[in-house]
Amino acid sequence: MLTADALIALDRAHVFHPYSTFINPPPVFPVASARGVRITLSDGRELIDGMSSWWSVIHGYNAPAINAALHDQIERMSHVMFGGLTHEPAVLLAETLARITPPGLEAVFFADSGSVSVEVAIKMALQCQISRGKPAKRRLLTVRGGYHGDTFGAMAVCDPVTGMHSLFTGSLSQQLFAPRPAVRFGEEWSNADIAELATLLVAQADEIAAVIVEPIVQGAGGMWFYHPAWLTALRALCDAHDVLLIADEIATGFGRSGKLFACEHSDVAPDILCLGKALTGGYMTLAATLTTRAVAESISSGEPGVFMHGPTFMANPLACRAALASIELLLAGDWQGRVAAIARGLQAGLAPCRELPQVADVRVLGAIGVVELKRPVDMRTIPEAFVSRGVWVRPFGRLVYVMPAYIMSPDDLATLCRAIVEVVHALD
Ligand SMILES: *Cc1c(COP(=O)(O)O)cnc(C)c1O
Repeated sequence: MLTADALIALDRAHVFHPYSTFINPPPVFPVASARGVRITLSDGRELIDGMSSWWSVIHGYNAPAINAALHDQIERMSHVMFGGLTHEPAVLLAETLARITPPGLEAVFFADSGSVSVEVAIKMALQCQISRGKPAKRRLLTVRGGYHGDTFGAMAVCDPVTGMHSLFTGSLSQQLFAPRPAVRFGEEWSNADIAELATLLVAQADEIAAVIVEPIVQGAGGMWFYHPAWLTALRALCDAHDVLLIADEIATGFGRSGKLFACEHSDVAPDILCLGKALTGGYMTLAATLTTRAVAESISSGEPGVFMHGPTFMANPLACRAALASIELLLAGDWQGRVAAIARGLQAGLAPCRELPQVADVRVLGAIGVVELKRPVDMRTIPEAFVSRGVWVRPFGRLVYVMPAYIMSPDDLATLCRAIVEVVHALD
């Protein structure tokens, strides 16, 4: 076994971390193990995990039921190609996803990551419009403040500023952007909130294949919760102008926002749905793009008569088993009660932040808590500030946010929130 110092030296010598640098990189903390809501560092320190490893570990680490499913599957087969072959984990997972997602989504494409599932969704929309004799409809419309992944198709519909579009000008397709929904979740709705998007959509409908949005919760683009009526109005606009609606529920799927899928806040069913992150309970990478029978049949009836995508590790059996076990665990328990309890705990625990001069806004929806600061945090010092208080919280920019595993106890949640209040209070 490597010592912690040797591990960090090798890490610095050879390893890229997300959005990080090879020149004098900020510290990383070696992890020895993780169980429940606790991450154990190799120096023995235990951290209460506020991040669920970026929305994904909804049942906590080392969930016995998912471990057991994976042990069983690994003895049968870890992987087989999906071209010309099929298997029970993939078929049962596709049937399950079709059953639990909003109505009408019947056809499932398994992909390797959230970003790839967004690429797949975009391709589905384009191939569908071509097959329907509308090849001019090949642009996408979205809103500012969105995040849909880091591959090129996905990046092109991320917020142009935080997504650094200027860096890739010329390589990135030019899509259409409307303002982000301004009316908050829980505020009074006004149709004016979607007026600018409506104008854009009506004017350019002949060129627009699809609208892509994160339903109700904008995640990495700004941690913003908007009014469900906005999504309902968007659905009506898309229907009226022959534009497909793509819902990116990679972050919000599987109960995080208080509904099993965030679209349910608006009683809206998209034409195409992207899932990822919590799909496998955070065990391994897997994503899915679902669409309606109508879209799937359009794609299949045009030229070339097939959908043009096929990842090497498509529908990996281990990942599909983890997903089946995770969904079974979720639906067997009182996830709604737990998410609601976490929402109350976050409201109460983060409330003292509202009084702090460093804080611009505090907001909670489902098991998501956000403290928006007036100034960006220093990523060189803030991680240690949290770690020294026994919690794992990783802010970005002006946003300190947590999305705990649904199994977190009220005591751990209170400790997590207290640490946030203290760290924010200590900022200058
Ligand atoms: C994380 C995320 C993605 C990208 O998923 P990856 O698995 O990181 O590629 C896309 N859309 C949303 C809303 C996300 O939160």
